[in-house]
Amino acid sequence: MAWTAEDRNWMHRAIALAREGEATEGMNPIGCVIVRDGKIVGEGCNEVDLRHDATAHAEIVSMRRAGQALQCNELRDAVLYTTLQPCGMCTMASVWAKIGRIVYGAGREDVHEMYFEDRHLDTVDFIRDAFRDDLSLEGGLMAAECATLYVPPDADVSKMEQFNR
Ligand SMILES: [Zn+2]
Repeated sequence: MAWTAEDRNWMHRAIALAREGEATEGMNPIGCVIVRDGKIVGEGCNEVDLRHDATAHAEIVSMRRAGQALQCNELRDAVLYTTLQPCGMCTMASVWAKIGRIVYGAGREDVHEMYFEDRHLDTVDFIRDAFRDDLSLEGGLMAAECATLYVPPDADVSKMEQFNR
């Protein structure tokens, strides 16, 4: 994948948001920015614990802010940058928001399986096959740096600590 300087710039911002999330009570180290016409229209990090809201993933938080800022539920021609491969919910929400392109950093193989809702099927593949063919999904931008935000694939995480149990 040939990433542009602009792609890297936005992923830097997403990583900075993830680090803020990591350092903030109730937030989690997943960062997202939504960019349209060279400007950030919405950004955020995972606020699930803070909001007591299972849907407050970084991507959804950012989409809500973008919708408010633009007073529009459709984010056509926007690019969503996120530090971790988006889950099925967020990918589907991107389809509904008509986001044109998703770029993520760390992918499933770069982090512990507990970050993903399904251990056997890659929801992103399912959505890519089943829905809009004009949504582009590209992974691996600054993946190594993004992966340092998360528990590594081979870590011994007790069942109690895993989010997807
Ligand atoms: Zn999600």
